[in-house]
Amino acid sequence: MARIVMKFGGTSMAGIERIRHVAGLVKREAEAGHQLAVVVSAMAGETDRLIQFCREASSLYDPREYDVVVASGEQVTSGLLAITLQGMGLNARSYMGWQLPILTSGHAAALIEGIDAAVLERVFAADGIAVIPGFQGVTEDGDVATLGRGGSDTSAVALAAAVRADRCDIYTDVDGVYTTDPRIVPRARKLPAVTYEEMLELASVGAKVLQTRSVGLAMREGIPIRVLTSFDDRPGTMVVGDEAIREFDMERQLITGIAYDKNEARITLTGVPDRPGSVASIFAPLAQGGINVDMIVQSVPRAGQRSDLTFTVPTASLAQSRDLLEKAREGVGFDEILTDTNVVKVSAVGVGMRSNAGIAAQMFQALADRGINILAITTSEIKVSVLIAEEYTELAVRVLHTAYGLDAEDAA
Ligand code: ADP
Ligand code: ASP
Ligand code: MG
Repeated sequence: MARIVMKFGGTSMAGIERIRHVAGLVKREAEAGHQLAVVVSAMAGETDRLIQFCREASSLYDPREYDVVVASGEQVTSGLLAITLQGMGLNARSYMGWQLPILTSGHAAALIEGIDAAVLERVFAADGIAVIPGFQGVTEDGDVATLGRGGSDTSAVALAAAVRADRCDIYTDVDGVYTTDPRIVPRARKLPAVTYEEMLELASVGAKVLQTRSVGLAMREGIPIRVLTSFDDRPGTMVVGDEAIREFDMERQLITGIAYDKNEARITLTGVPDRPGSVASIFAPLAQGGINVDMIVQSVPRAGQRSDLTFTVPTASLAQSRDLLEKAREGVGFDEILTDTNVVKVSAVGVGMRSNAGIAAQMFQALADRGINILAITTSEIKVSVLIAEEYTELAVRVLHTAYGLDAEDAA
């Protein structure tokens, strides 16, 4: 007998027929004798629809009320799955975030502060199945909160950690983690396993198959994640620690995967004075405004001249960034603020980078061969990212996928 948290994404929960299918998967695990907590997402498209209602109601909506609205999608599916499981003769019941409770702080992208495992332990002891809406928690004041887009993954991993589950199974609409988004590269290969560290980097640079926070939490808590599809019985991908990885994947490549992120915008400040403190006085107000600056490039000025400073911010923070920079302009003394949202960040991730030189050079060459211009670069120990024009997204991802030898063998 194992203790398993099963999480079903929006596509798996989209409509009664699919919910019935999900219930069948839960029943199968229950009949195998496992203890189960099931975390569900809202039906596919529902959270988008609810967010749109908030925007239409007021462009400056209150995050507390936003949470009240968007948390409802998961409430519906958790109730429906519990009803369906009961109809199959199983001892299932839904538990809202406030009933466990899943304690969170903040609104709209709330952080999980703690989960009380007592209720779930009682459910397990009584051979019951708990169905829990993903994405939602409750604040100290008793208000409903949500965890940010894709947050049901984090709910599932946090619950798995709270009840010390043996595994967290994330059922989604693809049958595992691929070398890149299989929806844009048909030659993408399914990975038998990835390390937490690689998955964390991949998710943080755009591979949204798992919410980044869920991977960080699984890594800290040592919870093995299995990513698989609810649509058939294919084996899926294990997300595990460094020690366990060889057990699942003997033939690891230097590069694990390629990801892209269109949610970054480029800002260039021209004529930045070449003196100590210039750059600090540009980034200080952005930091105070809570804006995450990602890539940064500064041109080297000739003696006595000024430089240009280019960096990226999340597209959603562009207007606020512009505002803050406009206010700082006189004090810093730069000329112009230029912005561009038609950019994409493409990244290659792999622990093999640690021991192999030339991975970045290979990336730059492959892009140059296709005439793709690089606007900015960042690197970490296991990642290289470049900023390019958005129109080249698919071409760049495909070219890099081939250049790093990631294409599936049976691909033409
Ligand atoms: P869910 O609703 O189940 O949470 P998501 O849409 O959040 O599903 O995540 C699954 C999607 O992630 C897939 O449909 C796929 O397009 C996308 N994706 C991006 N990068 C990858 C990758 N490297 N491997 C697998 N899927 C990926
Ligand atoms: N329904 C929420 C969203 O779409 C949470 C999730 O599905 O993970 O972001
Ligand atoms: Mg998701």
